[in-house]
Amino acid sequence: MAHRRGANDIAIGYDEGVIAVFVVSPWQWEQHDWGAMRIQFMLRNVRALAERLGDLNIPMLRVNAPTFADAPQALLTLAQAHHCNALYFNDEYEVNELERDAAAEKLFAAKGLAVKRFCDQTVLDVSQIRTGEDRFYSVFTPFQRAWRAAFAKQGDAGVVASPRKQRGEPVGVRAVEGWRGEGAEEEANSRPDLWPGGELVAQKRLAAFVEKRIAGYGDNRDFPGINGTSIISPYLAVGAISPRQCVQAALDANDGQLERGASGVVKWISEVVWREFYRHVLIGWPRVCRNRAFKPETEKIRWEDDERRFEGWAAGRTGIPIVDAGMRQLAQTGWMHNRVRMIVAMYLAKDLFLDWRRGEAHFMRHLVDGDFASNNGGWQWSASTGTDAAPYFRIFNPMTQAEKFDPDAEYIRRFVPELASLTADQIHADPDERLWPRTIDYPRPLVERAKVRDRVLAEFQRVKGG
Ligand SMILES: Cc1cc2nc3c(=O)[nH]c(=O)nc-3n(C[C@H](O)[C@H](O)[C@H](O)COP(=O)(O)OP(=O)(O)OC[C@H]3O[C@@H](n4cnc5c(N)ncnc54)[C@H](O)[C@@H]3O)c2cc1C
Repeated sequence: MAHRRGANDIAIGYDEGVIAVFVVSPWQWEQHDWGAMRIQFMLRNVRALAERLGDLNIPMLRVNAPTFADAPQALLTLAQAHHCNALYFNDEYEVNELERDAAAEKLFAAKGLAVKRFCDQTVLDVSQIRTGEDRFYSVFTPFQRAWRAAFAKQGDAGVVASPRKQRGEPVGVRAVEGWRGEGAEEEANSRPDLWPGGELVAQKRLAAFVEKRIAGYGDNRDFPGINGTSIISPYLAVGAISPRQCVQAALDANDGQLERGASGVVKWISEVVWREFYRHVLIGWPRVCRNRAFKPETEKIRWEDDERRFEGWAAGRTGIPIVDAGMRQLAQTGWMHNRVRMIVAMYLAKDLFLDWRRGEAHFMRHLVDGDFASNNGGWQWSASTGTDAAPYFRIFNPMTQAEKFDPDAEYIRRFVPELASLTADQIHADPDERLWPRTIDYPRPLVERAKVRDRVLAEFQRVKGG
């Protein structure tokens, strides 16, 4: 919020500048399935941000607005109390967020206060990217082509400079006192050892990835047993680092080239473009924010409702080692490798034949990098209900996926320790041909694959025809 010259109503004396505000909306977070991992990680990052802003004499205040509907008035009250003349914020694209932001804009305008909105969640303003027929893209490859053309015109990622130090007394972290004890138990359980907060941590991780691993990204990215990806997603999800900083760091390592040069860099940037694509999809088809499938005909699919199957999946007790390893990685760390996310998601929808929305919500509740657009996009891709989705008849076989992408079963052994004494061949053996010692305590598969597969195919064909 911009603060008017001469205002002297906050404890720390300075005569012009901005106040940073963090809006706390616990009811809305709950509605959006944000879990403790994500919330605590976000708060950790807000505290780190408040400290850095404190060094710049910029206070950070907290506003309580249990629902998004409460936020505009809460912000206005704060703005008026501090004689602010403008509200600045970055755009968000989910429907509830859009409604909240439009209401805030209206309320502030009615009181004669300026509102300035910025695009910062994406490298490019993806609301402006369109097909030749002025439509939104529903397929990734042509979207990416258009994105790259627009980026080339812009020339660089457009990284924004850090704010300047404000005049006046240093505020340190005094303005955010009282946050430290918040949710102490949840904070302790949310793996701060794995996910320390702050932009500086994120930048360090990005720099280490670009220096050591990005060159091999193309070869290594699909192997969950290898530390081959950036693991920057949590920091992107909460805005601790911007996608512009990410793309610029990658370009700098490739002589500024977007299309040529190191193939690992080119591939990595295209993954960041997937993130931009799923935001573009939200803007073009907001119904996906309302629990709707992108492909309307797939809403008629009669998913099965089987609590035993869902609970087995969620607990990492499906009897399929790669699926169980992924679900346990999620439970233990709040993160899961992308290849394994695809495998467990497709397994829920196509093998267990459960509604993908249940899996989507479970991911949101447990991921530290929970991000509506990417999560919904990933789930709808896996369930063949979404944009550019996997064709419904292409169903991953999780056993062959495991053999291909975790050949030595290193990843599986790490997260499913009861299988640690088995060889990779034993672990990857067809479940019906498992010759495992009786002492191994591991469940039989929850379903008979071939049978369910026929049901899934028939159901997709039925809704396609109807
Ligand atoms: C079912 C499912 C659910 C998912 N849920 C989420 C989610 O809630 N939050 C989330 O950030 N990502 C999600 N993804 C995408 C992807 O799995 C993660 O972004 C990735 O695993 C993060 O690891 P990384 O940072 O090491 O990625 P890297 O491979 O290093 O990629 C760099 C960045 O590009 C973006 N990115 C990479 N792959 C994708 C992708 N397929 N879709 C969109 N963006 C991508 C991410 O921001 C990532 O941090 C989901 C994918 C699937 C299949």
